[in-house]
Amino acid sequence: MHINSLVLAFVAPLIALTSAAPLMRRAPATIHTKCTVPGTFALSFDDGPYNQTWDLIKTLNEENIKATFFINGNNFDNIETESVTTSDGVRSYLDHLRFMHTSGHQIASHTYEHAVLTGLSEEEVTRQMNALSDIIYNTVSVRPRYMRPPTGAYDDTVLNILGNLGYEVAIWDIDPKDYEDYDLQRKEDVFSSYLDQETATPPTSAHMSLMHDVHPQTGPYLLPWVVRQVRAKGYRFATVAECLNDPRPYQ
Ligand SMILES: [Zn+2]
Repeated sequence: MHINSLVLAFVAPLIALTSAAPLMRRAPATIHTKCTVPGTFALSFDDGPYNQTWDLIKTLNEENIKATFFINGNNFDNIETESVTTSDGVRSYLDHLRFMHTSGHQIASHTYEHAVLTGLSEEEVTRQMNALSDIIYNTVSVRPRYMRPPTGAYDDTVLNILGNLGYEVAIWDIDPKDYEDYDLQRKEDVFSSYLDQETATPPTSAHMSLMHDVHPQTGPYLLPWVVRQVRAKGYRFATVAECLNDPRPYQ
């Protein structure tokens, strides 16, 4: 028997024994519900990319704002295989990811299929996270470290699995429920109720807002209004990682 075969004969059973469980268990994922750097405001967009996303990115870029996109892999459309018509012509969704990344926006995970993670097996949660992470990595060479669980649903089991996969959980503190209806005033009132509480100049509070780039009203109508109001209050726009003073948006 060759020496390498001998070594393998001893090592192989050990590998078989240890491969059933992950070699390293990390702490449960940390939950962030608002920004912590005073005076920052993180715009975040969930559920895309979809047919409004390209132009929403352009709006952000024209305003010189870096935002955060909690994307899905297969929600409204399949981002690996489908394309959409934008103001710049037809663009694949993978082009959207490249556009987000080169524009300096933070790409974060909202699971592969917008799966509500509570009640799912560890295997399925892992699949939902890894499938999307692989697509992002293969497209822009980064893996997201931040995720937002669909519907905001999580429990200890989910946090344990996400933590083990290296994720931080970002929720939000301002939710205008932009997906519910077309009542723009109602959504503006939600933002105003938070912004009106801030009396200091520059602001000492910090916020993380939730919107949906898939909603047709959000990019063209709600976002420009929010940008004006937030700027008027003196907040500085930041990505989710930046507003948490975290230099590592990616794994
Ligand atoms: Zn969602």
